[in-house]
Amino acid sequence: MYNLIAVSMGEVALKGKNRGYFEKKLIDRIKRNIKEFNNVSIFKDQGKVFIEPENKEDLDMIIEKVKKVFGIVLLSPCIKVEKNVDVIEKSVIELFSHLVKNNNIKTFKVQTNRTDKEFEIKSLDFNRRLGGVILTNFTDVKVDVHNPDVYIYVDIKTDCYIYSERIKTVGGLPIGTNGKGLLLLSGGIDSPVAGYMMAKRGVELEALYFHTYPFSSERANEKVKKLRDLLEDYCGKVKLRSINMLEIHKAIKANCEERNTTILARRFMMRIAEKISKENGIHILITGESLGQVASQTIESMCVIENAVEIPIVKPLIGMDKTEIVKISQEIGTFETSILPYEDCCQIFAPKHPVTKPKLENILEDEKNLDIENLIDIVMQAAEIS
Ligand code: ATP
Ligand code: MG
Repeated sequence: MYNLIAVSMGEVALKGKNRGYFEKKLIDRIKRNIKEFNNVSIFKDQGKVFIEPENKEDLDMIIEKVKKVFGIVLLSPCIKVEKNVDVIEKSVIELFSHLVKNNNIKTFKVQTNRTDKEFEIKSLDFNRRLGGVILTNFTDVKVDVHNPDVYIYVDIKTDCYIYSERIKTVGGLPIGTNGKGLLLLSGGIDSPVAGYMMAKRGVELEALYFHTYPFSSERANEKVKKLRDLLEDYCGKVKLRSINMLEIHKAIKANCEERNTTILARRFMMRIAEKISKENGIHILITGESLGQVASQTIESMCVIENAVEIPIVKPLIGMDKTEIVKISQEIGTFETSILPYEDCCQIFAPKHPVTKPKLENILEDEKNLDIENLIDIVMQAAEIS
């Protein structure tokens, strides 16, 4: 019955003069997410975007893919027909039969939206007329304009689109409409969620993962790649760089106070991330920090860690509880992978008693014992890209 999908754009539609730009980005993203399907046309009809596959069997699968495109708020499988009153009435009956067969429907409301003012019947009159047609054909149902069991939407544009379902989707803004961010992606629960949240606001992502192979396992590497793959369903291509921090950890262990290890290592991570960002036109760093969650996430630690770089570090989870973060990770499908047991960082280099309120001058004192630039160059030379 359904032959295409109507796309409602939410915030994108509100962007005034930028609307064309946002729409173009959105359509690009839709195309990418459904490129595995053949012969699908994406077109606009008087301000609304439609997706029309040649093969109608693909419709449900396309909806599943397009649901993950940021910038869309609603999707509706719909019937496209010519703007002929008889034809429209017939289709409304067809749609309604389908709905009553599958649901217990007692009340309905017809809602016409006439974008094409040349169409001879006004919206309210058309609602009444189509409502009458339904009442004549289905004797067990009534009109309820306030709280109906189902809506029948009729959009009069160049063609006429008839639908009932409105599938809620992820919302947000199309990827690429808000610059580029480098996500510090570990194998944990938080960082994939942090990346998702920034991508949802239009930020295009690249990812950076630090390991200490052979002290951290190959499986930890695979886990992070898997998380990147899962994010790509929403975020488009996410380039992942993996960097082995072993030489840095060895140098810290040999030359610095043990309790400062985590802070020192984090400062290196930020410096490396900043360097990669500068070289690749990336505007911000993104981390999964949430205030107070672990020893290195006290306000004092964060300040000392951030002091190592100038680039803004965005932390979308900073004020969230673990339960809220877990909920999102389950919704986006990263949770199961995140809780696999392989650690991204080996325990050998973890201090027994880490400082929780580090003093910047102590950290700077420790860093005097390290050849920072040289260490960064060494580990960056061996970066792997996937
Ligand atoms: P996550 O659940 O994301 O692993 P976490 O609760 O383990 O976070 P931390 O270990 O303090 O918290 O890490 C804070 C943030 O620092 C992470 O969310 C991530 O953005 C970044 N980070 C930590 N370890 C790594 C790593 N090995 N590679 C890349 N980024 C990392
Ligand atoms: Mg972690």
